Amino acid sequence: MANGDCETRLPAPCPSDELHAMTDAPPPAEADDKDWTWVLERPCPECGAEVGDMGVADIAAANRQNAAGWTEVLAGDGEWVRTRPAPETWSPLEYACHVRDVFRLFSERLDLMLSEDDPEFANWNPNITAEAERYDLADPALVSAELVEAASAIADAFEQLSVDQLARTGRRSDGASFTVQSFARYEIHDPIHHLWDVTKR
Ligand SMILES: [Zn+2]
Repeated sequence: MANGDCETRLPAPCPSDELHAMTDAPPPAEADDKDWTWVLERPCPECGAEVGDMGVADIAAANRQNAAGWTEVLAGDGEWVRTRPAPETWSPLEYACHVRDVFRLFSERLDLMLSEDDPEFANWNPNITAEAERYDLADPALVSAELVEAASAIADAFEQLSVDQLARTGRRSDGASFTVQSFARYEIHDPIHHLWDVTKR
């Protein structure tokens, strides 16, 4: 995902996550302020995703498939959907809200890369968003519909890219630079990883 304030490394909590765990405030884990760019270079040791060679048609299909997985998750037992497995770990519902917002954010960033030359993305802190938007109180059925719509939108956008557009670029504020192609590969790991997060339980 985006905007790394933390150094490149394998998935591990950011210091801010530990602070969160010390308070009543929700969010934890998979923050946007982690640097996940290594997933472009090697398979994820946790979720097993191998995105480094994926083409945009496959990425589009994977986004749709992922949304179907979330539909199943959110249709599951209501109590389970809303329950955090640990105080510092998001519930399936909170993860679903996050993934919906990732789809939306990455659609916006894609638009930016296609309409401006080498734009710098605005920072996004998912933990702040989760608390402000009260992910924990969301309606699973509504989130399910919104997530499918958002995934479909970014899948459509990926499918419509021309070869020239794949080479356009954009940057995070931490200096990480993407082409549209690598951006798409980077994007798809996030929802896959989070679906793994909630279904491995
Ligand atoms: Zn992963």
